[in-house]
Amino acid sequence: MTPARVKRPVEAKPGMAEPDTRPSTTPAASGFDDDEPPSRSRRLPAWQDVPDHLWTDWRWQTQNSVRSVRQLRTLLTFSPAELEAIGRIESEYKLAIPPYYFSLIDPDDPFDPIRLQSVPSPLEAQNQSGYELEDPLEEDKDSPVPGLTHRYPDRALLITTPNCSMYCRYCTRKRATLTRGGWEGISADDERMIDYVRRTESIRDVIVSGGDPLTLPVGKLRYYLDNLKAIDHVDVIRIGTRVPVTLPQRLFDQELIDLLASAEKVYIQTHFNHPREITPESARVVKALLKAGMPVNNHSVLLKGVNDDLGTMRELLRGLLRIKVRPYYLFHCDPVTGAGHFRTSVWKGLEIMEGLRGHMSGIGIPTYVVDSPHGGGKIPMMPNYLVSMADDAVVLRNYEGMLIRYQAEDKPGLSPAAGPRTRGVSALLQGDKTQLMPEGNERMERRRRMEVLDPGYEAGCGGGDSDGPPGVLPLPVMNGRHAASNG
Ligand code: SF4
Repeated sequence: MTPARVKRPVEAKPGMAEPDTRPSTTPAASGFDDDEPPSRSRRLPAWQDVPDHLWTDWRWQTQNSVRSVRQLRTLLTFSPAELEAIGRIESEYKLAIPPYYFSLIDPDDPFDPIRLQSVPSPLEAQNQSGYELEDPLEEDKDSPVPGLTHRYPDRALLITTPNCSMYCRYCTRKRATLTRGGWEGISADDERMIDYVRRTESIRDVIVSGGDPLTLPVGKLRYYLDNLKAIDHVDVIRIGTRVPVTLPQRLFDQELIDLLASAEKVYIQTHFNHPREITPESARVVKALLKAGMPVNNHSVLLKGVNDDLGTMRELLRGLLRIKVRPYYLFHCDPVTGAGHFRTSVWKGLEIMEGLRGHMSGIGIPTYVVDSPHGGGKIPMMPNYLVSMADDAVVLRNYEGMLIRYQAEDKPGLSPAAGPRTRGVSALLQGDKTQLMPEGNERMERRRRMEVLDPGYEAGCGGGDSDGPPGVLPLPVMNGRHAASNG
């Protein structure tokens, strides 16, 4: 069997920034996309003749979703062994891809990032380490009533439906989406969840999830919204939905937008993973949600072969800002059964974060989190910016690699006579130097140029050469890195 392989990442080691030698997964390089998100509307030839009034109808999109391997084989290329393997998986985890979302796939690219997210892979049958679990976050163990997870003091998560418009192959809640169908009416479990929230005054923020709550029948969605709105201690209702990404046509329906807005406390938590998912259609529904007064935040999942390179991630985040979606979380992919091939090292996530902070607008930078096993919850991860510390000061590193003494409180410095004199980071802690600057710093070069143009301009702390102002210690560069950071 030759399964479709996900490109192996070059693993970054701590303190290293190896060049990524893989082919870029950015759309521009794929030959499929040639514009910045939101890119053009797309339709694969199979649906070219569908009239616009049907194509833009969410019911038509749902009814015509690709739901079987038999349909898949008419649209994409597979080897016989792959077909046999994914045929077995089909019975274990639901498959549904609306024609709109399917049309974002480049059919000629077996490693296409939209395809990887939505089309079954033989790799889903692997669990080499046994580390991947059905319920990796132990949500069911923190469930006081069926369907509700109460983990953090002031938040509760409600699983309201097993249905999604598209079944993501890496989904953490595969176990919740396994049920076929879905109960249309209000069940005793729905009432128990609402009752629990009503009785638990510490809960201020309710995440209405699933599955995808925007696949619920309107009456049932209204039940949740009306009841949660009426609970005084609930300040925030978060709707966790991938519909703006996978089936935006559902939100072309103004009645649904009005229903969501009527609950007054609603925030939309959506889930874009790749810049190609940012389309005119998704931009349109985000605009409608914002216009109706609902903030739109994004969760992405770090996925091998989909968005685990800096270029793709930056393009995604910038595209989200362009349509006014706030990047909120970047999740490390959870160890869920069947998703092992999507998981990267944590170092890969940190390498990407290193390339974001300081290099692009802070409003576009999500918090990178590991959702920890045993129900430990979200743990934020970031590169180390605190390099060293003493009683009266710390040494911080900025995005350029500049090392800076920072004195948080107004205290007298150490006496120059105190102890032996040292160099490097330790000299910063002794207080006779205030910064170590890498040579060739672009920002300092800019200051120097301004000084030349305008001799009255004060360049401030100066650059990294030995003629710089007092307090600046030039830092030798070794192979493009600080000598100190290698030492
Ligand atoms: S939309 Fe959300 S719940 Fe549904 S399959 Fe994707 S990640 Fe899972």
